[in-house]
Parts: sequence; structure tokens; C-alpha cells
Amino acid sequence: MTKRDYYEILGISKTATPEEIKKAYRQLAIKYHPDKNPDNKEAEEKFKEASQAYEVLSNTEKRKKYDQFGHDAMQGGSDFHEYADFSDIFSNFGDIFGDIFGAGQTRQKRSKTGMTPQRGHDLSFNIEITLKESYLGVKKEVSISHFVTCSTCNGSGCAANTKPEKCSTCHGTGAINYRQGFFAFSQPCNKCNGQGFTIKTPCPTCKGQSRVQNRENITINIPAGVYNDAELRVKSRGDAGVFGGETGDLYINVSVATDKKFWRKNNDLVTNLNLTYPQLVLGCQVDIENIDGQIQAVKISKGCPVDEQIIIPGKGFTVPGSLARGNLVIITKCHIPTKLSSKAKEVLLDYADKIGNDASNSSGSGISGFFKKFLG
Ligand SMILES: [Zn+2]
Ligand SMILES: [Zn+2]
Repeated sequence: MTKRDYYEILGISKTATPEEIKKAYRQLAIKYHPDKNPDNKEAEEKFKEASQAYEVLSNTEKRKKYDQFGHDAMQGGSDFHEYADFSDIFSNFGDIFGDIFGAGQTRQKRSKTGMTPQRGHDLSFNIEITLKESYLGVKKEVSISHFVTCSTCNGSGCAANTKPEKCSTCHGTGAINYRQGFFAFSQPCNKCNGQGFTIKTPCPTCKGQSRVQNRENITINIPAGVYNDAELRVKSRGDAGVFGGETGDLYINVSVATDKKFWRKNNDLVTNLNLTYPQLVLGCQVDIENIDGQIQAVKISKGCPVDEQIIIPGKGFTVPGSLARGNLVIITKCHIPTKLSSKAKEVLLDYADKIGNDASNSSGSGISGFFKKFLG
């Protein structure tokens, strides 16, 4: 069969612009459209011919080849598409109709060879840890229910030795193109849910879903220094993807419980230290237990005021993502006894008598003098 020249078929010149090519094809498509020419073999042939010409001339690469070598360049190559009938044109060439007739298209790529892989969902999980655990870092085992790839079918969803089959309704495109008057529309294929493929013999374990729900214990490594309300991402421990899609991530929301003795300020670990009045006045060395149970010697210098901050460098929280550490900050407090033995009271009164009652001399505070007038 001798082929007519594509430019001749569309009735355009060799120098036609893409717009002119499209316009010419649109006119022919309307003219030979099967809706207008029911059971007209000649119209069908013309329609096929025009579609072929349009497919080549609307593609810059193919048009260039055709201009150089004519039909010979197209014969037998993958560039060339021989249409069997109308439905073949509509299903394989539907995007052009969408373009030509202005129907909005959300077509899947035609290079599909099976089920569409889909990424699994991210999951999140809340964990509460103690301040000590955030100081030291901790491993926590969490039990989460999530989708995992079906091990029977390795995520294919198919029974052993079977493959997804091209959907007979949409011919693997996942979309159904239908016509209303001169317009072609496209919608996801109902039969295959837009997949383009169907699983005829599903895997008995996952029923063709490619993954199964599973409860799993996962050990979470919570690094030392983690902040309250930190979000840790554990890669690929969320829901498994569908049909081989990427696995989602697991997000761990860490809340750090408050501690009775210690608290965190930036990267410092802070605590109060109760001392007696003589300890503050005379100075001393005391051992305190740090949050991790380690004994820490603290030196109180002579005449140490209340609310003095004693800084022990490098004994605070690990700065997340580094080797640096904050400090241990010890705030001095004065323990005021509510009960005294008679002997202690006697000594204290004697002491008070010796130093006098005017604290303003030593502290320089006018407030003490003010109270003295009432209490003295
Ligand atoms: Zn389908
Ligand atoms: Zn399976």
C-alpha cells in the first residue's frame, strides 16, 4: 500500500507550524469522527490516516526524520504506530484527543509495565522519657502496628509464578477515554482502579494488597541530650509501600518528664543545693549525687551567698549532634531549720548577740534595716 504524504493528508504545507498542524488534524478528526460516521469504513481509514500523520508531524523528532527520509524512516520503527481501529486510537492516542478537543487529562504514563508503586505512610509515635534518660541517652522498645511488605509474594501482590495482567478494559493505560459528541474525556478505569493492571491470582497471604498489617517491636535509639518535644525520624520504619513503593518513615515524638531535683536550661543541667548557714559562711566541700548517680565534689567558698551559681564545666547535657556538653550548674540555697535543739538555740542566740542585729552593715541592704525596726 502506497502511503500518502503526511502533509498532504492533513492538507498543510511543509512549513506548517505546530499550531497549524493541530488545527488541521482537529478539523479532520471532527470530519471523520466515528460519531459522525457510524459504520463508515472509509471514514475510519481517513481518521486512522490523519491520526498517523498527526502523530508524526506533531512530534519534532519524528517530523524531522520524516522530512529527511519520508515513510521509510517510519516503517517498522518504534516511532511509528499502526492503528488497528478506533478504540486503539482512542486508548493509545487519547492524550492527543484530550489536547485536540480540550478535555482535561490526567493520564498516567504509558510506559507502565505493572502495578503502580506507592510510598507508604509516615507514622508517628509518642515516647515519654525521664530527664535522666535524656541526659544519658536511652534505647526504648516500642510496639507499633504498621504495614510490612508481604513476604509470601515479596510485595508483588501476585500468587507464585503469576504476574499482573494488563487491564482488558483500559488496555493498561489506567484511564478510560470516552466520547461525547466531538469531545473525548478521560477518567480513571473502574475495573483496575486506574492501575492499568489487575491481579488475576492474588497472593493468598496479602490478598493482592502486597503488604500486611503487622505488630512489630522496634528499638529506638534516643540519643543523649535529646530535648523535650524533639521529633526523631527513624527512616523506613513507617508503613511499607504498596507494590514495591518506598517505605514511609517513623517519627518519634519525645517528651521529657520533669524531674524532682534537676532541670534543664539550654544545655545545662541545673540543680539546687541546700546548705546550712555555717557551711555558706565558713565554706566547705560537699559531695552531691549527679543525675546519673555519679558523685560530684562541690567546693563552696567562704562567705558564699545564696543563689550563687557554681559551675561544673562539661557535666551538663550533650549538645545534640555534637561532642560538646553543657555545664552542671549548682545553685546554692540556705536551709533554715524549723526545729532546733535547746543547745543549738542557745548557741545561735549567743552568736546573734555577738554579731548584733544590724545586717545592713554587711549586706548593704536597706531592707534588712527596715525589718529590724519591726522585728528587733
Ligand atoms: Zn483498567
Ligand atoms: Zn502477598
